[in-house]
Amino acid sequence: MKIIMLGAPGAGKGTQAKKIAAQYGIPHISTGDIFRANIKEQTALGMEAKSYMDKGQLVPDELTVKILLDRVAKDDCKNGYVLDGYPRTIPQAEVLDKAVSELNEAIDFAINVDVPDENIIHRMSGRRACLNCGATYHIEALPPKQADICDSCGSPLVIRDDDKPDTVKQRLKVYHEQTQPLIDYYQKKGILKEVDGTLDADKVFDTIKKILEA
Ligand code: ADP
Ligand code: ADP
Ligand code: ZN
Repeated sequence: MKIIMLGAPGAGKGTQAKKIAAQYGIPHISTGDIFRANIKEQTALGMEAKSYMDKGQLVPDELTVKILLDRVAKDDCKNGYVLDGYPRTIPQAEVLDKAVSELNEAIDFAINVDVPDENIIHRMSGRRACLNCGATYHIEALPPKQADICDSCGSPLVIRDDDKPDTVKQRLKVYHEQTQPLIDYYQKKGILKEVDGTLDADKVFDTIKKILEA
């Protein structure tokens, strides 16, 4: 099963992608997590990506596409994957389509997690992230068991550099300009599914399971 998660920054793509990955035994691939891991390791890729991420801009397609294609070519992707944060532009979607169709395969679902802009700033200001394992929490909606400590791996939680309100506003602008057109793109392909992302995370996941198992 090959699944794409669409939605604004902070809509809950990562939260749902992790649940899907655990439920169906497929890898969760987040280009944002891959970039953050590279920033942590101070690789050349990480330094270049950071210069865009800190400004709330997209990392250029040439860089992003290569990373994604390398990742989905790995063995653990044979039975599918859930992509979180890729594609974010039409050219990225076209490259993925080409790679998948060359294997005589297809993307099964593009799930749009719909959350209005006015909810996003609140979600992002309460987001706490684990840079070790990629888990995310929210100080009110999805708090960790122990404040500022990751439930999954025990590492300290941090506020992401790009979750400051001004950067979030810029990311939303970029989302509407460059990423939202993908909703139409996948609608035309007949694989778009919409879910209401304002519900509790467990309710959102119930809806997604019904879609995937229909
Ligand atoms: P969020 O979870 O808030 O949607 P991500 O962790 O997916 O954020 O991405 C963080 C940042 O990493 C983005 O704002 C962008 O700068 C960069 N990034 C991640 N994925 C992509 C992509 N597919 N194309 C371009 N830039 C990306
Ligand atoms: P994205 O990957 O789309 O950027 P995340 O999954 O990181 O989004 O979620 C953004 C923030 O909102 C996090 O703090 C997360 O804990 C919280 N969150 C996720 N899903 C929900 C939900 N259904 N209701 C309330 N808060 C949520
Ligand atoms: Zn962790």
